[in-house]
Amino acid sequence: SVSVVLFTADLRLHDHPPLRAALEGRRQVVPLFVRDRAVTAAGFAAPNRLAFLADCLRDLDAGLRERGGQLVVRSGDVVEEVCKAAAEADADEVHLSADASAYAHSRERRLRRALEADGRRLYVHDAVTAAVAPGTVTPASSDHFAVFTPYFRQWSGQRLRDVLTAPRAVRLPPGIGSEELPSRAALPGLSPGLAEGGERAGRKRLTAWLRSGIAAYADRHDDLAGDATSRLSPHLHFGTLSPVELVHRARRAGGPGAEAFVRQVAWRDFHRQVLAARPAAARADYRAKHDRWRSERTARDDIEAWREGRTGYPVVDAAMRQLLHEGWMHNRARLLTACFLAKTLYVDWRIGARHFLDLLVDGDLANNQLNWQWVAGTGTDTRPNRVLNPVTQAVRHDPDGAYVRRWVPELAEIAGAAVHEPWKLPAPDRARAAAYPDPIVGLADGLARFKRARSRD
Ligand code: FAD
Repeated sequence: SVSVVLFTADLRLHDHPPLRAALEGRRQVVPLFVRDRAVTAAGFAAPNRLAFLADCLRDLDAGLRERGGQLVVRSGDVVEEVCKAAAEADADEVHLSADASAYAHSRERRLRRALEADGRRLYVHDAVTAAVAPGTVTPASSDHFAVFTPYFRQWSGQRLRDVLTAPRAVRLPPGIGSEELPSRAALPGLSPGLAEGGERAGRKRLTAWLRSGIAAYADRHDDLAGDATSRLSPHLHFGTLSPVELVHRARRAGGPGAEAFVRQVAWRDFHRQVLAARPAAARADYRAKHDRWRSERTARDDIEAWREGRTGYPVVDAAMRQLLHEGWMHNRARLLTACFLAKTLYVDWRIGARHFLDLLVDGDLANNQLNWQWVAGTGTDTRPNRVLNPVTQAVRHDPDGAYVRRWVPELAEIAGAAVHEPWKLPAPDRARAAAYPDPIVGLADGLARFKRARSRD
């Protein structure tokens, strides 16, 4: 007998419940990945993520070949392609990981209907793309938590399933053809400093992180120049690392660093359970509605300056240039650049979220949209009107200015924290920063605009 495993955001062999279930009883397995037309059509095929994905697929294929199988890649409508592959292999069951978005839910429904019409069964596995699946913990009065702290209390009390080992052998049924695997080499428009994808790269990073990074996480995770976070986010997004395994291993590492790190991973599950319960939150204001954003036309020059990293606020510009260069940005930098766009420039969070999704290698519907909403004050922040001052933030989280000098060469000759306020430099230093732009808006003016607009909402 034959099973099909449809790989989606779970591109790994370790700790993979659908694959484990599919192999049970020494079945043959078709490990299938569909390059889904709908995902491309919806604008989610950003070059940086396609490149990382290509690495992931190649690595998954290599891992399967070492075990006697191979990855089968097809392109088109995901439901049609799964049904076709299942028919070719005469498979009687298909295994899939549950996921949080509206699209994932509709894919699951459509697949179930189509497979059942052909007399096949769909098995959907929870706790593969999340450590604690959406809906597992809920408050008494609602289908999801809207506030993180009580969510985290319940999340922490959950017993996670055991971690599964990678299979030793995977037998493919004969005669199942695959398209050629995609390659990152063929992709234009990549960020030059893009990370490498694939399960092997992810596991290597995880091991290194547990050995030498996690212990200092509580103290150093906000240090912009220190780059002291795990950078595991793209691996969690593509599922080259299992969130269940990650939490188990972090807890085993122990200490305040691990505790702070696990709390951060729980934020990922938190946003997923919000999105799963309120799929419209990917586009529409989740809690507080704000309709008075400056129009895209009025704010066009400001938006361009923000995207390109020439707002005249060094830490904002450093962060936006890091995003262009690496397809990744530090969490503290995401917070303050998003806040600058939404609250100081008073531009609709959706415009910023779109730019992030166009570039982020970890660009993720739940994490990106709901973090943007959190920052913009339309989401789950319990203090929706707080504003992060980019200068104060910079002095606190980049006290020596090293992060700014790394990304903003026009300021490379300005020593120490003075780099955060080039407009205050004495005349001789100011000449050395002459190529750097003046601020596009005064912070007080931006804040006044924000307050005026919010008081009318
Ligand atoms: P670490 O600090 O090492 O944290 C470990 C893991 O915990 C991360 O990989 C991530 O999966 C999770 N995590 C950490 N912080 C958060 C958070 N605030 N919310 C949810 N999960 C978190 N993360 C994405 O994965 N994809 C996105 O598209 C994304 N967009 C964001 C947009 C904005 C405006 C903001 C403020 C945050 C966004 N984040 C996003 C969350 C966070 O910034 C990144 O997950 C983090 O910077 C990734 O780096 P890391 O792996 O080194 O994190």
